[in-house]
Amino acid sequence: MNTTSPMPVAATSEERWTPYRHPQPKESPPELVVPNVIPTDERVWVPVDENVWFRPLLFCVSRGYWMNLLKVRRAGVLSRHRHPLPVHGYVLKGKWRYLEHDWVATEGAYVYEAPGETHTLVVDPDVEEMITMFQVNGAMIYVDPDGNCMGYDDVFTRIDKCRAHYAKNGLGAEYVDQFIR
Ligand code: FE
Repeated sequence: MNTTSPMPVAATSEERWTPYRHPQPKESPPELVVPNVIPTDERVWVPVDENVWFRPLLFCVSRGYWMNLLKVRRAGVLSRHRHPLPVHGYVLKGKWRYLEHDWVATEGAYVYEAPGETHTLVVDPDVEEMITMFQVNGAMIYVDPDGNCMGYDDVFTRIDKCRAHYAKNGLGAEYVDQFIR
């Protein structure tokens, strides 16, 4: 018995190839395609620490999350932080781990970080470069080992950091606008 059935697209082959005939909902924001996720222009990388950068992909201001690549070219502790909301990660290059867990996020891995988690990001000395795509919801709350708040990032602080950097490096502050939805 065939338990699969085709997705309901159309009754005829002509209809199958007919684009949707109506406008998209007017409240729906424009779609976004970023051609080079790993940018060809190094100026797109925004420094956040020595040998640590992020590259914006999407800043969703109406839902309070952002998509970015994190790039690290140094060994050691990157940050200790708490997540009030889930984070999704995909490792494109290198590897990293958290002091609080015994797993290592290696190239090709998907990582789910649960709401309520506090953890300390480490890149080990045998890693020349680490690049990971993260969807960060809500905020990164930077904390000391007891969980006391030392600072935070949210979609708005990340936009500000891009604006300030792009204003200085010739891309122009408004370069960040293309990523905002
Ligand atoms: Fe995290």
